[in-house]
Amino acid sequence: MEKGLVQIYTGNGKGKTTAAVGLALRAAGRNLKVIIVQFLKHPDTGEVMCLTDKIPEIEIHRFNSQTKFIRVMNDEELDKLKKETESGLDLTRKIITENKCDVLILDECMGVVNNGFISVKDFIELIKSRPETMEIVLTGRDADPELVEIADLVTEMTKIKHPYDLGIAARTGIEK
Ligand code: ATP
Ligand code: MG
Repeated sequence: MEKGLVQIYTGNGKGKTTAAVGLALRAAGRNLKVIIVQFLKHPDTGEVMCLTDKIPEIEIHRFNSQTKFIRVMNDEELDKLKKETESGLDLTRKIITENKCDVLILDECMGVVNNGFISVKDFIELIKSRPETMEIVLTGRDADPELVEIADLVTEMTKIKHPYDLGIAARTGIEK
């Protein structure tokens, strides 16, 4: 790729991760090397299973072994999440410094910033340090305005309806 840009998929509607995974397929189809780093989500989702088993060309790494939401975690669980998230950030730094891919997707990284696992300043510095040819995709609700400022493409998924509001839990193969 000639010049990699910074993309953000944010907003409170469904579609951020699925858009990023869709982009990963498109890029891989054009023989671009794609790495997805997923933060804060536990391992059990269809995309992880599919990519790991069927499309090994798209690397996917997850950094949360626990299923609980952050807001109900006790100190010990939070500490574990913090350590795992830091491992994910270390891997991200390595991918960027060593120019390991053409498209790097940092899924749910807004949650990493918004929960204070890394400062906005340090995160922006990391994004800006990427090789010129690397495209970076950032996803998650509540994108920090400073991140929006440095991005080249920002899409907001707006919820008009979501089955969750009707009490329909996340469905296997659709929401997870
Ligand atoms: P998806 O992975 O389906 O593309 P997403 O990445 O946009 O969703 P996240 O904020 O990562 O959404 O939320 C993860 C889970 O919450 C998914 O199962 C998603 O379908 C669901 N979800 C997304 N938006 C909402 C909403 N407004 N209310 C309730 N659940 C939602
Ligand atoms: Mg998501």
